Amino acid sequence: MSDNTENQVSFLSSPQIIEHYSFLQELGVFRHIDSLNREIRGYKNLLLGALHIFTRTSIDEIMDAAVEQISDLFLPSLVIFLWKPVQHKEGLTIKGYQNYKVIDPGIKIESIAPFEPFFRQYPKPVNYEYLLGQMKDNASLDALVGIRPELIVPILGPSGLYGLILIGPKLLTGGYTRTELEFLNHLMSFASQAIQNHLHYEQTLRDGKTGLFNYSFFMTRIAEEAARIRRGDYSSSIIVIDVDHFKQFNDSFGHLMGDRVLENIALVIKQGVRTEDIPSRFGGEEFTILLPHADRGTVWAVAERLRIAVANMKVPTALALPPVTISLGVFTFDKYMELNVAEIINRADMALYQSKEQGRNRTTVWGSGLLFKIQNSGRGIAKHNSGVIP
Ligand code: GH3
Ligand code: MG
Ligand code: MG
Repeated sequence: MSDNTENQVSFLSSPQIIEHYSFLQELGVFRHIDSLNREIRGYKNLLLGALHIFTRTSIDEIMDAAVEQISDLFLPSLVIFLWKPVQHKEGLTIKGYQNYKVIDPGIKIESIAPFEPFFRQYPKPVNYEYLLGQMKDNASLDALVGIRPELIVPILGPSGLYGLILIGPKLLTGGYTRTELEFLNHLMSFASQAIQNHLHYEQTLRDGKTGLFNYSFFMTRIAEEAARIRRGDYSSSIIVIDVDHFKQFNDSFGHLMGDRVLENIALVIKQGVRTEDIPSRFGGEEFTILLPHADRGTVWAVAERLRIAVANMKVPTALALPPVTISLGVFTFDKYMELNVAEIINRADMALYQSKEQGRNRTTVWGSGLLFKIQNSGRGIAKHNSGVIP
């Protein structure tokens, strides 16, 4: 029994209360106490739910926790989260749940921008029917027609609307009661706050233009790896990449087209590495990738795959662009080398420099004493266009 319940039992069984029992009952005192108790239980659940949500460390976990909380109390027919992973770009990530399980909600919605004016003015969860009345002739709202959510909860942050949470009607019994709606509103406001915090946190690790990790996150991770490797018996690697003749490209096609090329190269890099790798934009038109637990043979294969993929990359545009190429420098390290971060990056940089010297569009692996042999020095997009260690 909790302290509170114990106190109440002794209070209710005290002689004075018993003496005036009928009078107090007539006054409705006990009913009132009951309803206060229910309210307190509701707040306790809400606090526990909030704690559950706020202690999660990824957006997926936050969403799972929120769905778990509401499904414990009443089963909504579905819960759908829509959010913009990168604030200044359109493009939505959508995740739906039905009966605790992740489903494809099949929504065709391109943008949440049309909801923004409404939620900026009214930054609270709203009833879908009400929103329908407020936002007539809206294509985005039409996209939700098949879904018919009961409630729409905005995820709002300093730079506007980040996302929406759609909650379907109750699966089992009737509509939501006022108390349940209030509980949902509060819980989902917590979820929205937690998601927003997490989006902000992720943005501090990422480069705004390409979505790759940024310089400072890369430096943190490589410092961790340089320290960790001293305790292990394995090798890790880094790749540094520099776009070839990029100044010339900008001069011919403009800076904005140059940006699109960088975004596309970033996409190739992201798709070409493992989830445990750290693909980053080091600055300007330079990229770095940390590949923990990747030996020389592995990293060489990764680097060559990226080089060839970039050379064959098609940037979606009506312009006829020449192929863009990259030069790469690769370095593999282990505990026996006893190197610090600057020494690690420096060796990969020297290898990159060699790739540039040898004619660009190639990979060079740093070998002991900086000596690598470059085989095949032909230009173009040949597969074997790279330096190999003897
Ligand atoms: P190299 O093959 O020797 O690397 O030649 P390069 O022209 O790429 O090298 P340089 O260092 O002379 O020029 C780098 C160019 O990259 C100049 C700069 O305008 C461009 N650049 C750097 N960051 C960005 C960016 O964010 N967007 C665009 N469009 N261009 C960028
Ligand atoms: Mg450069
Ligand atoms: Mg360059």
